Amino acid sequence: MELIRVNTSMNLNKFLILNRRLHLLKSKAYINGDWVNAQSNKTFSVLDPSTDKPIGTVPDMDATDAKRAVDAAAEAFKTWRNTTAKERSYVLRRWFGICKENRDNVAAILTAEAGKPLSESLGEFDYGNAFLEFFADTARHINGEIVSSPWPNKQILITRQPLGVVSVITPWNFPYAMITRKVGALMAAGCTCVIKPSEDTPLTALVAAQLAEQAGVPKGVINVITSSRENAAAVGKVMCQDPNVGCVSFTGSTFVGKILYGLAASGVKRVALELGGNAPFIVFPSADLEYTVDQALLAKFRNAGQACVGANRFLIHKDVFDEFVTIFKNKISAKVEIGGKYAKQFGTNFYEATLLVGVKPDMKIYSQEIFGPVAVCSKFNTEDEALQIANNTRSGLASYVFTKDLGQAFRMSRELEFGMVAINDGILSAPEPPFGGIKESGIGREGSRHGVEEYTDIKYTLFSGLAKGM
Ligand code: ADP
Repeated sequence: MELIRVNTSMNLNKFLILNRRLHLLKSKAYINGDWVNAQSNKTFSVLDPSTDKPIGTVPDMDATDAKRAVDAAAEAFKTWRNTTAKERSYVLRRWFGICKENRDNVAAILTAEAGKPLSESLGEFDYGNAFLEFFADTARHINGEIVSSPWPNKQILITRQPLGVVSVITPWNFPYAMITRKVGALMAAGCTCVIKPSEDTPLTALVAAQLAEQAGVPKGVINVITSSRENAAAVGKVMCQDPNVGCVSFTGSTFVGKILYGLAASGVKRVALELGGNAPFIVFPSADLEYTVDQALLAKFRNAGQACVGANRFLIHKDVFDEFVTIFKNKISAKVEIGGKYAKQFGTNFYEATLLVGVKPDMKIYSQEIFGPVAVCSKFNTEDEALQIANNTRSGLASYVFTKDLGQAFRMSRELEFGMVAINDGILSAPEPPFGGIKESGIGREGSRHGVEEYTDIKYTLFSGLAKGM
């Protein structure tokens, strides 16, 4: 079975190479350019999710440490905000370059703590590092506007200024890319940050900080605090409510996102929230089914189905339903008919790629984000019905449509209530387009110039009294 084959492709040799590559592992957090313990001296273990064995320990920080990190970022902001766009671009490009030199090392740590196959870790690394490269370029294109004034002898100037310290809270499923996508953008804008990585994957964040240090990112611009889940709420409160924080940038569950949104509201802080999805993957009769199923495999099983843009509901037109399901089944079930259980030969930390049909709308699996290697296929009759089913969710992140009918593609792009629509493709994220959702899937965009602008405030300055003699 494809998923299992990939997950077990790490043979003994590869494992030994992997272990040698873990030399960048850090066991301390990073505040104001120093590698530090928690003030309480507490630590917690980071586990290898394929074996549940510890691979390292990191400080278990609390609210006091969080405050220290925010203060450091606020101090660094005073100078970083006044660097030129060109300087920031150079620093980001150096960081990109040093990370690239350490591609294999970063990927090894990603695999060790996130449990994804090495090939997927390398894929995440390339994707994540492309954001540093892109934002190094974008840094030099954050421009303002001069617009016509409705009054004589007055001039309107619109500028973009960095909004301050950004609190960055990231999940475990893309431990490298979620950091570069946020930190590359905010640094380009002239902001500084405090990063709280997931308690499951703090090591990749510490490696990224270590490489940033080597690249000459000034002290205090990037701070990384690590905490166990028990301390996450106390740390999160400081990160959302400290007066020095200008923005909370979060990727994770809708549940936690709503808590942080509430906390940030009391200080009217800017939020950038990338929350859960419930992506429809809609297949019309005109689609090339072989190609569509290949894309379905990518959209569903990449990262073992643990991606917020992962296809969650396969909506297949009735005329091609049986054929689609047969091709889909054949492509994922070389050994097992349709999965549905643990891959016992590897213990209970691995689950088989699974295909379900006949799922009813009132079933839990239909409405909740699956976040695993389980594909659910349902039949539809008409375009309107497909749209009605697809939009019947409070989530609105990614959606996928397969059709060769141009008008239909255009109508779907317009009518789907999602922040992102992929026509005839199963993968859509890159540094150039804006990534983000509507409804309960989030606020704000990451990537593209919009992703940088998230971290700026617009300032309007009126120059008056410009008449001669005034
Ligand atoms: P996931 O299920 O993908 O781990 P979560 O939303 O639970 O998604 O977690 C994403 C990030 O949010 C992690 O870094 C986690 O530690 C953090 N987190 C969870 N609860 C809180 C909280 N109350 N305050 C701040 N951060 C939190």
